[in-house]
Amino acid sequence: MDVDVQNIRTDFPLLSRQVYGHPLVYFDNAATTQKPNSVLRKIDEGYRFRNANVHRGVHLLSQEATEAHELARRQIATFLNADSSDEIIFTRGTTEAINLVAFSFGEYCCQAGDEIVISQMEHHSNIVPWQLLAERKKIRLRVIPINENGELCLKEYRSMLNERTRLVAITHVSNVLGTINPIKKIVEFAHNAGAKVLVDGAQAVAHFAVDVRMLDADFYVFSGHKIYAPTGIGVLYGKRELLENMPPYQGGGEMIKKVTFEKTTYNDLPYKFEAGTPDFISSTALAEALRYLLDIGWNKITTHEDDLLNYATKRLQAEIENVQIFGNAIEKSGVLSFLVRDIHPYDLGVMLDKLGIALRTGHHCAQPLMDYLGIQGTMRASFALYNTREEVDVFIDALKRVITFF
Ligand code: PLP
Repeated sequence: MDVDVQNIRTDFPLLSRQVYGHPLVYFDNAATTQKPNSVLRKIDEGYRFRNANVHRGVHLLSQEATEAHELARRQIATFLNADSSDEIIFTRGTTEAINLVAFSFGEYCCQAGDEIVISQMEHHSNIVPWQLLAERKKIRLRVIPINENGELCLKEYRSMLNERTRLVAITHVSNVLGTINPIKKIVEFAHNAGAKVLVDGAQAVAHFAVDVRMLDADFYVFSGHKIYAPTGIGVLYGKRELLENMPPYQGGGEMIKKVTFEKTTYNDLPYKFEAGTPDFISSTALAEALRYLLDIGWNKITTHEDDLLNYATKRLQAEIENVQIFGNAIEKSGVLSFLVRDIHPYDLGVMLDKLGIALRTGHHCAQPLMDYLGIQGTMRASFALYNTREEVDVFIDALKRVITFF
């Protein structure tokens, strides 16, 4: 059965907005997604009826807030098929989760001369934290190349792994190329070489089911705001034995057992990595967003989004002269990056905006990938479960119109 997209759209109040007098066509979902009513209600209810700080209070409100926050953690563990909710650390998002691992795992097991492997298609969030670690610890960063379709060169990747490799940090889905990387295989190769793997799931979790145990990923990170949940909340999944051995990332309340001026002992998982008051309202809203997706079902979501991507790709290729599409991987999800002739993406983006069409233009926080492609940036349309073929039609027709101005 197909996804009932018209019905779904009524769940998202922002989609009925007009932009410059046109119905909004929101194709910037890889940057952030819109929020359904149930998520908005969860935030509202949280502040209206059970707003009290978690974990520390004896009073009813605090207990209710704590229960809701910890229930959300358990729901997220189930969503990822983690062994235990102790392996779910709340962060502010993907970026903070990667920084946490870069710092803490880096302290735990990286020494001068060690190597970390990333890839040519990483977002800056999965490059710069490793560069900071590399500077601090005098370790070497190695980069897996990609082929002309925008797929990882797995042969080169395998030949890079050696006894000095400590970690492979790799995106599940490229935010520019849309490539879905073969994570299970990547993990297998890394583990055979004795290395751990961090997977950046920022562009994956909203589009298909993720099972961290099936992937055997050591760390898996994602942001709430890209999966129909609020900004300011994200998740780090980590295998228990690793998290237990890693030192805290930040110090403060919540992450301690006992503090004296002489010595502090740290809390158990997951709290050891959650210094300070957590975003206990957003955690519940994130769990609500996941429930919303699961209620629709992955089969329907993935089939619908793949259809949109294929339809948009075909129309773009067939009807726009001199269009160049970046990312032609066989396994692809969610995003369509392109350039038309030598027209600057910014100029096209501004003109499409005036017709109500929201696309992203620029380097998409992936400057090393842009350098490799020999371009400054691209236009990027990115799809969500509430987008429609009719919106793709509006976009293609508008693109044809604005191109005639150049
Ligand atoms: N990784 C990828 C692949 C992304 O697409 C993004 C955001 O666009 C990030 C990391 C960073 O996410 P956030 O800014 O939510 O931390």
